[in-house]
Amino acid sequence: MLTPLTGRSVIVTGASKGIGKGIALRFGAVGAKVLVVSRKIEDAEAVAGEIVAAGGTARGVAADVSSADDMTAMAEAAVAAHGGIDILCANAGIFPTVPLAEMSVGDYDKVMDTNVKGTFLAVTACLPAMKAKRNGRIVLTSSITGPITGVPFMTHYAASKAAQLGFMRAAALELAPWRITVNAVLPGNIATEGLAGLGPEHVKQMEASVPLRRLGSVFDIANAALFLASDEASYITAQSIVVDGGQILPEGGMMAPELDPAA
Ligand code: NAP
Repeated sequence: MLTPLTGRSVIVTGASKGIGKGIALRFGAVGAKVLVVSRKIEDAEAVAGEIVAAGGTARGVAADVSSADDMTAMAEAAVAAHGGIDILCANAGIFPTVPLAEMSVGDYDKVMDTNVKGTFLAVTACLPAMKAKRNGRIVLTSSITGPITGVPFMTHYAASKAAQLGFMRAAALELAPWRITVNAVLPGNIATEGLAGLGPEHVKQMEASVPLRRLGSVFDIANAALFLASDEASYITAQSIVVDGGQILPEGGMMAPELDPAA
């Protein structure tokens, strides 16, 4: 049983859909005060509304993680509404597919701006409030793609997700004196709107490659984020937790046979 996060102020970026929404709902359900962030205010407010309807505390704000001004405004909104910032879940990310030979500088920059610069800007915007408390939890949503595995047509994405882990290690060292930890969750293939956007063939292929025989749910990732943000994880920093149903494990694609349903 983890110490309840009642009253803690958490910011979740990319929280109007998918994994970020799962994280926001999970933190809301354990009593944290949640700032739900996405570029579309109506979507962010809808998720905040779900948390409030369930008895929690939340508010939606519109902000683009690739904008320094937006990230500053986001952090200020959390301080004004929720009295500070205890936890940042830097989750917003995009994963378009483009063959390497056809990838434009614009394609590359868009992914890096959102996934890498977005992580840097969200973290740095929250630092003054976390340093003031001499305590903080930063949880990044990286991926197995890049740090551990590769996927064709996602070179920019794979590079961005590996870059988040380099950022994490250096930031963890630098922020340790303030008792601010920086860790990452590395999801496998999680059933989200974004994953569905990669097409039914991709989803089918991924599903078939997971030893636990299902795609992950957003709450599988949220539970790992919740642990890394907990008091019980206070001595863990610069680490990553793979949450992938065993997907990175099979050697040569070998998996145990299906059980006989009659047995
Ligand atoms: P998703 O379903 O596409 O949702 C993405 C969320 O991020 C939305 O709320 C979106 O809202 C927001 N967003 C996108 N660009 C943004 C920006 N520039 N500024 C602020 N918010 C932005 O994606 P997902 O599948 O949940 O993925 C979330 C994270 O998990 C990403 O970092 C991704 O790399 C990582 N991940 C996902 C999987 C998976 O299988 N799904 C696997 C590994 C890692 P708006 O468009 O309204 O801004």
